[in-house]
Amino acid sequence: MKLSFHGAAGEVTGSCYLLETERARVLVDFGLYQGGPISEVRNRHLPPVDFASLDAVLLTHAHIDHSGRLPLLPRAEYRRPVYCTPATTDLCGIMLRDAAHLQEHDAERYGRKRQRRGKSAVAPLYTRADVEALLPSFVGVPYGEEREVAPGVRARFHDAGHILGSAIVELAVEERPHRKTLVFSGDLGNPETPILRDPAVLHEADVLVLESTYGDRNHRPQPETIEELAAIVQRAHHPAGKVLIPAFAVGRSQELIYHLGGLQREGRLDAAVYVDSPMAIATTELYRRHRESFDEEARELIDRGTMPLDFPSLHFSRTPEESRALNGVGDGTVIISASGMCTGGRILHHLKHNVWRPEVDVVIVGFQARGTPGRALVDGAKHIKVMGESLAVRAQVHTLGGFSAHAGQRQLVDWARNFSARKPRLFLTHGEPVARDALRAMLHEQLHMEAECPRRGQTVQL
Ligand code: ZN
Repeated sequence: MKLSFHGAAGEVTGSCYLLETERARVLVDFGLYQGGPISEVRNRHLPPVDFASLDAVLLTHAHIDHSGRLPLLPRAEYRRPVYCTPATTDLCGIMLRDAAHLQEHDAERYGRKRQRRGKSAVAPLYTRADVEALLPSFVGVPYGEEREVAPGVRARFHDAGHILGSAIVELAVEERPHRKTLVFSGDLGNPETPILRDPAVLHEADVLVLESTYGDRNHRPQPETIEELAAIVQRAHHPAGKVLIPAFAVGRSQELIYHLGGLQREGRLDAAVYVDSPMAIATTELYRRHRESFDEEARELIDRGTMPLDFPSLHFSRTPEESRALNGVGDGTVIISASGMCTGGRILHHLKHNVWRPEVDVVIVGFQARGTPGRALVDGAKHIKVMGESLAVRAQVHTLGGFSAHAGQRQLVDWARNFSARKPRLFLTHGEPVARDALRAMLHEQLHMEAECPRRGQTVQL
């Protein structure tokens, strides 16, 4: 039995693992590399895997760094199912179609640039047609149900508490005379995240593949962050005030809706709240439909007749006209819009119309990569470049650090502690080297668990 690490080994994107036994070959995740031109090249360079002979593909969750290369499978002659939870199936319908649209758009823009220099056009990594060819092969398996996915390989999904549908994958693998249990954490959620259940507690594994995104850091407690948010929206409530929140469409936007709904029920938010992102709206509607994923608190709200992702002054701006109409609003109106790092989407036109006005608050609630307008705002830039225009930053910029969809260091160690009695063979993935090394040291110190840090392309015998 062997396991190969074909991505997210010493980095946080491109998740992809291959399990091989005498009788079966199973791929876990097939994500995009993200960030910079090198990623573009690496995404086009497929790992040395014979995709046509795979028995199954398992997907932990819909985030593009885990799912974003699945649309390459039909052209690689893979004809078997992609197993994931039913909510992940639905979410992939939204996210992979959006990813294909972006691939096509970027290829066209970049290709035109090349053609103007007398060079050849470029083909997109994949198209919307590739996504449509892939989606029928998705098979939804509810949490907790066991399913034979390949000869001698039974899979079960458990709550990962990260985004809607996210799963820890447990595999029971038989290779006579051996029987091994493999657990892939996927991205492990932050237990403080509302709406979704916390990561499931598992105890038994022979092999554990654990993410380490925040292996070197703990998050600020979320209640403090909610209080900061409450103070900002209350202060903004004057005739010219407006609160702009750039947010990831999946996960963060729904969290914000949940918390703002709570503030409104407590009488601490009078202003209207607009969600101005077609993808955030579609995702919120999916969250509302998948109540089976809700935690106890969200279920209690429903039992009391309150919808956790709805409140009277919440509005969805679906059309471009509805979006433009928000230019005229004030009274502390809150606008949640994508993209989360201000690199595209409708948030750009809100910044263009507002970031130079001192009555406006901009609230940063997520990670901002270097080189993005969002990062420039966090770093206190006096001017930012948006849609080709240099804008003076006179709005109040607030950075709220307590939201994260990932477990922090302490939470990762606590989750691993559940396995410490039997001490599985432990591999750390999905983290930058600094984060991964810090987690390895902490696991050694606190749990006497020795972790291996595989590099990309490495195969280990189990
Ligand atoms: Zn994720």
